[in-house]
Amino acid sequence: MSEGRTELEKLGEFNLINHLTKKFIQKNKSTVLGIGDDAAIISMSNNKVKLVSTDLMIEGIHFDLTYMPLKHLGYKAVVINISDILAMNGTAEQITVSIAVSNRFPVEALEELYDGIHKACSIYNIDLVGGDTTSSLSGLSISITVIGTAEKKDVVSRSGAKENDLIITTGDLGAAYMGLQILEREKSIYNTNPKIQPDLDGHDYIIGRQLKPEARNDIILDLKKMNVKPTSMIDISDGLASEIIHLCKSSNVGCNVYDEKIPIDSKTSMTAIDFNLDPTTCALNGGEDYELLFTINQSDFEKVKGNPNMTIIGHITNPNDGIYFIDKSGNQIELKAQGWNHFNE
Ligand code: ADP
Ligand code: MG
Repeated sequence: MSEGRTELEKLGEFNLINHLTKKFIQKNKSTVLGIGDDAAIISMSNNKVKLVSTDLMIEGIHFDLTYMPLKHLGYKAVVINISDILAMNGTAEQITVSIAVSNRFPVEALEELYDGIHKACSIYNIDLVGGDTTSSLSGLSISITVIGTAEKKDVVSRSGAKENDLIITTGDLGAAYMGLQILEREKSIYNTNPKIQPDLDGHDYIIGRQLKPEARNDIILDLKKMNVKPTSMIDISDGLASEIIHLCKSSNVGCNVYDEKIPIDSKTSMTAIDFNLDPTTCALNGGEDYELLFTINQSDFEKVKGNPNMTIIGHITNPNDGIYFIDKSGNQIELKAQGWNHFNE
């Protein structure tokens, strides 16, 4: 592929990562797991591992400062990184923060950004240990790397799901996406007539899910207390459909996921219907929920049954059976990833 010109959108994000990294082989014994999971796993002494993950957020692509307060942006940037460490069943401990910033931003603006970073660090018990600061021609970019730890035996990857395991999601899905739709709608109304004040009334929950997500530390603690170790886990950043596909492909299994089981808050459904959108489609493809999606052995069913934070949405099948979504009329639909594809939006 070195000759001619191949458009990025032809590959898509995941094929591009595979294409660019396929000739890299792991040379160090300490690299237990490299590319392909929520975090890399690096072995340490005493059967401990370090977990490392990084995320980059670009103004205009990942956030819009017309409705995203800088304090929230700082908070969210930390939280979405912590979520990747939790998805490995680990504990996040340190972050580094790198920013590229144009002269559009005064010091006070960056102070607000760092107030949000500081708040997340104190709530999630994280140490800020470094970073980098540079100028940019336009806009703001923020890249955070998070470092976590876990006992080697406790680590959960995307690849351990087995036939007959139960598939569980935490919380409810699609709310952050609907919150974004409200914010975008009010922005376009404001742009056409700045005299009209944004009407965000009654949408606190879904807007909160978009602007100030939380990482599910509580779930990781609950699972430990309940003595349940998931067989596989991933966090839901790009939408349930895309994450289920990642999990099944990494584990080389199929699945049946049931429409009627997917947890959707009534405020999400009502807003989706107002926008002429199908709530299930929003839950499947919306993204930015930062909930955890995991599988458990059937023998752990009694332990999770009735837990208000965990919903069983389906089960794992044989790889030859495929990755299926069963709609409310019982039709089997093959799941296709429609998560954010940054190159053809
Ligand atoms: P997540 O959604 O959990 O943050 P991503 O989908 O961003 O994960 O990334 C999937 C995997 O690909 C991760 O292991 C990540 O570290 C790796 N990855 C992403 N982009 C690159 C890149 N440009 N070079 C090398 N590895 C990458
Ligand atoms: Mg992730």
